[in-house]
Amino acid sequence: MSNAACDPRFKILFEPVQVGPRTARNRFYQVPHCNGLGHLHPTAMATMRGIKAEGGWAVVSTEQCEIHPSADSASLVELRLWDDRDLPTLELMAHKVKEHGSLAGIELVYSSYAVASLYSREIPLGPSHLPVQTPHQDPVQCRAMDKDDIADLRRWHRSAVRRAVKAGFDIVYVYSAHNLSVLFHFLSRRWNHRTDEYGGVLENRVRLLREIIDDTRDEIAGDAALAVRISVSELVGDRGLETHEAEDAIGMLAELPDLWDVTLSDWANDSQTSRFAPEAAEEPFVNRIKKLTTKPVVGVGRFTSPDTMVSQIRRGILDFIGAARPSIADPFLPKKIEEGRIDEIRECIGCNICVAHDEHSVPIRCTQNPTQGEEWRKGWHPEQAAPKQSDDKVLVVGAGPAGLEAALHLGQRGYDVILAEKSRELGGRVAREARLPGLATWGRVRDYRETLILRMHNVQTFLESGLDTREVIEFGFARVAIATGAHWRRDGVARYHQRAVPGLEERCLTPDDIIAGRRGGERYLVYDDDHYYMGGVIAELLAAEGLQVTYVTTSGLVSPWSVAALDQHRIQKAVMEACCSVHVSKGLIEVHDGSVVLECVFTGATTEIKCDSVVAVTARIPNDTLFVDLKARRSEWVEAGVKSVDLIGDAYAPGTIAAAVYSGHSYARNLGARIDGDAVPFKRELTKLEGHP
Ligand code: ADP
Ligand code: SF4
Repeated sequence: MSNAACDPRFKILFEPVQVGPRTARNRFYQVPHCNGLGHLHPTAMATMRGIKAEGGWAVVSTEQCEIHPSADSASLVELRLWDDRDLPTLELMAHKVKEHGSLAGIELVYSSYAVASLYSREIPLGPSHLPVQTPHQDPVQCRAMDKDDIADLRRWHRSAVRRAVKAGFDIVYVYSAHNLSVLFHFLSRRWNHRTDEYGGVLENRVRLLREIIDDTRDEIAGDAALAVRISVSELVGDRGLETHEAEDAIGMLAELPDLWDVTLSDWANDSQTSRFAPEAAEEPFVNRIKKLTTKPVVGVGRFTSPDTMVSQIRRGILDFIGAARPSIADPFLPKKIEEGRIDEIRECIGCNICVAHDEHSVPIRCTQNPTQGEEWRKGWHPEQAAPKQSDDKVLVVGAGPAGLEAALHLGQRGYDVILAEKSRELGGRVAREARLPGLATWGRVRDYRETLILRMHNVQTFLESGLDTREVIEFGFARVAIATGAHWRRDGVARYHQRAVPGLEERCLTPDDIIAGRRGGERYLVYDDDHYYMGGVIAELLAAEGLQVTYVTTSGLVSPWSVAALDQHRIQKAVMEACCSVHVSKGLIEVHDGSVVLECVFTGATTEIKCDSVVAVTARIPNDTLFVDLKARRSEWVEAGVKSVDLIGDAYAPGTIAAAVYSGHSYARNLGARIDGDAVPFKRELTKLEGHP
């Protein structure tokens, strides 16, 4: 770790900024983001936020915080401020942030069309009678608000503001952004069909937002700053809110808040994956906001490059560098810039694994940062490593994401580590997959680890060093971690078929083959029974080479798991545009020379398709032979000095890159610890029973 001082070019990022009655100590601003912890795992949530404050973010905000049970987000896990009983959770979060000298922000929300209130069973209220827009397409409609309902909403918001200030928050949000807030729904003519003074012309659609800003200002009474978060486009042209309208709205309200937080709507446009949007992609939509107001402006753009950040400030686009994902991937990003440790930044790769798990209502996780969500329950701090427990030497076999992360964290703990890699490069699947269309940014998983490992004296890396069982035993390392990855199957077994597809194995190409450059003929059929990104990118790759590609999936959608990662619709568009034809809900049942037979997964009706090659994107098989052989020779371990052999990452069970990194990290954290295999391996916060001692 170098101790260089802040590069003078980046000093501008560390200027304080006034936000109403508060001063942010620098320009790094963690904007509100969901995390699947929320009200269900409050201490975990508060600890995660506190670590970001420790890492230098001058403002650390909550996720969306519901103000009333009639718009409850279940089954999503968010925060609640329904009554005083919710205060302790919010107080804890504010405290954890403020104890590091940061400002705590809270995003109050009434979600209307974005929720189905499945927990409370109340009817969500909205500007108009419209079905809710929830991930499960729940059969629930919002009730159009009358004047009494509007008065109720204003009162609920006031109460929540009062409680937020009581809980100690420095910045209180009025939320009119994304497709997630009633105020945004009033603002956009797409969602607001009213004919009274709250609908129609923009002045009317802004009315409720203005009233709630006035109420909030009144309620905070100088004890906190008031932020307005607003979306400046829905990217649907004149069917929804357009940027010129949003700018007019901001112009009408210009000086009323203490800060403007500007975004795109919906969330999928605001948190685009790196496959579809580069860093700073929102600039064309937000670059005129600062001309409309004297108040500071924060915006996002998956900012990880300090040069880009400085450019945003110097060119007058933003005053604060807003971040959700970059702060998840590296809670210490500001500190690393301040201390001249730029190459130690764990850059977000834009994969949206974080978002996907929030959408699954489970604790947040991150591909790059294996400690995310584990700060409290496992006591994992993103920048701290427990000293080694012994002088045991460790051999890590395989330098994919699991092996790299294990070697890195073991090195940080002070262990002497040898990292042996069979191929000519570090990175394993990440190095290979980063060459596929749109996935180059994923190479950061390797880059970050490689940079740090190569400068560690206690971690030695050997390329072109494929090891066999005899060598591992002869080397006699006390600890051996096997991170030898996995390979794609050739027999068609995955989700649809649990038995081999006749004729496939002998004629099959796999993603491994395609990445290695193997081709066969002009007409390809990509058979996707994996349902994540690989089928789509293989189809895109082959089509980009001018080959004829037919894409077939057993699912009703292309890449359905990506719905939770917010880019399924973009993937489906890309695949439909790249391929000659797309067949959904079809299983592959026979493969012949020059043709295949598909069956409809519902009716069983068959279709024959001509093709030269079938690429099966199905399931993977762990490369665990080395581990199995070593275990079979356990009797030789003691004499050789081997104390333990563990299987990690895809070699244990093929999964996401995030899972492989986590597995490697977990191995390194736990090495030398006494683990009770029968105990729950983390702390839990249990619901307190009401009315029972
Ligand atoms: P993971 O996602 O679990 O990290 P990867 O497939 O990305 O798995 O990486 C596994 C790495 O292990 C690959 O780079 C591969 O070349 C390497 N490898 C596989 N078998 C051996 C071996 N016997 N000795 C050394 N390296 C190996
Ligand atoms: Fe970035 Fe992926 Fe981590 Fe989310 S999970 S913060 S997108 S690296």
